[in-house]
Amino acid sequence: MPSPVQELLARSHRLGADRRNTNYAGGNTSAKGVDTDPVTGEPVELLWVKGSGGDLGSLTPAGLAVLRLDRARALVGAYPGEDREDEMVPLFDHCRHGPGGAAPSIDTAMHALVGAAHVDHLHPDAGIALATAADGPELTRRCFGDRVAWVPWRRPGFQLGLDIAAIQRDHPRAIGVILGGHGITAWGADSQECEAHSLEIIRTAEKFLATHGRAEPFGPLIPEFAPLPEPARRERAAALAPLIRGLVSTDRRQAGRYTADPAVLDFLARREHPRLAALGTSCPDHFLRTKVRPMVLDLPPDAPLADVERRLRELHTAYREEYTAYYQRYAEPGDPPMRGADPAIVLVPGVGMFSFGADQQTARVAGEFYLHAVHAMRGAEAVSRYAPIDESEKFRIEYWALEEAKLARRPPPAPLTGRTALVTGGGSGIGAATARRLAAAGATVVVADRDAEAADRVAAGLGDADTAIAVTADVSDPVAVAAAVRETVLAYCGLDLVVNNAGLALSKPLVETTEDDWDRVHGVLAKGSFLVSREAARVMLRQGTGGDIVYIASKNAVFAGTDNVAYGAAKADQAHQVRLLAAELGGHGIRVNGVNPDAVVRGSGIFASGWGAARAAAYGVPEDQLGAFYAERTLLKREVLPEHVANAVYVLVAGDLSHTTGLLIPVDSGVAAAFLR
Ligand SMILES: [Zn+2]
Repeated sequence: MPSPVQELLARSHRLGADRRNTNYAGGNTSAKGVDTDPVTGEPVELLWVKGSGGDLGSLTPAGLAVLRLDRARALVGAYPGEDREDEMVPLFDHCRHGPGGAAPSIDTAMHALVGAAHVDHLHPDAGIALATAADGPELTRRCFGDRVAWVPWRRPGFQLGLDIAAIQRDHPRAIGVILGGHGITAWGADSQECEAHSLEIIRTAEKFLATHGRAEPFGPLIPEFAPLPEPARRERAAALAPLIRGLVSTDRRQAGRYTADPAVLDFLARREHPRLAALGTSCPDHFLRTKVRPMVLDLPPDAPLADVERRLRELHTAYREEYTAYYQRYAEPGDPPMRGADPAIVLVPGVGMFSFGADQQTARVAGEFYLHAVHAMRGAEAVSRYAPIDESEKFRIEYWALEEAKLARRPPPAPLTGRTALVTGGGSGIGAATARRLAAAGATVVVADRDAEAADRVAAGLGDADTAIAVTADVSDPVAVAAAVRETVLAYCGLDLVVNNAGLALSKPLVETTEDDWDRVHGVLAKGSFLVSREAARVMLRQGTGGDIVYIASKNAVFAGTDNVAYGAAKADQAHQVRLLAAELGGHGIRVNGVNPDAVVRGSGIFASGWGAARAAAYGVPEDQLGAFYAERTLLKREVLPEHVANAVYVLVAGDLSHTTGLLIPVDSGVAAAFLR
């Protein structure tokens, strides 16, 4: 790896590791240097610049676009002028040096044209605060003297690159610029100098805001909008989250995240928050993620829940009308169609922020971006008046043909993207396999198990909290079930899919089955799945976006064998819950289906806990041959594995069976005595 690239990656990682320096996936860095041209063997001047997509903190060589510097700079001669600057973007591809690497981003021109070996373009909160202050040029002068220049707002692109390059040429003492309405750019003769200049601009701006800022930039406290105490806040958030998520999923289902960050709660408890929230965010990166402005509840956090619900519905209707009007105000023939009128950010004073997006990662990042916007507004209001870019400019960015092209290039989402699934007994066997299958199909999975360690292990194996979390719950305990569903809702703002899988097994003749045996088996299987379905349905009904409930029943729900009265009866109860709930919940778009597996030995918590050994002994086969033994008794002579059951769950929920409810699918390799009729 050429040394400029090594230095560039190391610098990018350091800068990207601190969110005060730039937002997630925001900003880009570059280095210019010499490498050997493999064609001629001669030295060639190259530009390595972070490409489109990805985050500075985890930048890899594959995330860089590599351009011939002479050709990139020759683009100035091909520039047709500001009105047609978008035509320059495809020309970057004609400047690339060799195959691979990332697609050059819209900011490539700035990096190519600035006459310094290393360039950083960043979106620090403190920099955006100055960039969005009404008297930004004057503040920049006061803060930096002639070390940092001001560049008036201009949409990112070729002309902005030319503007910055001209300033750098004309201001030899300048180490960088504040980009009006946007962020900062810094440069240096080497990587170390560039990084030092970036950090100098950011830290100097932070210090300036801290020393010269007013004490209460967001105005005095509104006492009745003060944050609720922790338990009440969580309870209110859990009550509101499914309702809000349902509302913002009017155009299409959105994944949600909730945060009670103190900076957000403070903002919402201050007098100026309605005015500032209405102004919207500013940095192009911010509002592409957060939409042009958030939806803000205007009731105190202890208002009666029914009043809050009514008001949220009114505000949501108004938001959609306003957003549609915003689109119609600025859209011109040929612009991309409106991408939905629902908000991405919903602010509830005293409770917190709900953020939404097509998937969990997008929803989380939208919330992070609004938090950055709060910090930026705070800084701007501390020393001046927050004055973001004009609404018409925001529209031009939001519905920019280049952004639309980027969206169109994305691969189609996985079938369960944006959906949240709760899998009980997810710590092992069928539950763990189902959790993995659903996550692989794009769902966010809450792995519930009585065994906290097992649940943690499975959830951790699936990925970070954008993909899965673990909760501990004994499904036979109504308090624990309610708590598990509440944790799910607080983590992901709702619930779309439940798999009632938690179970235990018992085989005893009737006369040896104790009352306690009966109660224990029915407590987990019949009552447990009832409790989970009831709690989940409460959330689904509040969301109003349908849902899926899947029961892992059993061949024994149908098949009448010996020594099985407690287990078989409880499984039959579960199987009939499928039909009863399908009948009751169908009108709400909630489908209830089930799977009847049999003899799933491998990976099963039930079989591992002594049941398998007992069965093997009963049949006179070694325990490790039990699966094969069962397989021999089936029509297909195939051993049933947890993955086969998980596949059936997937088929039931992934979309192709959209018109099916009340169905039980046997996954038993064929047992004629258990055929459904
Ligand atoms: Zn930028």
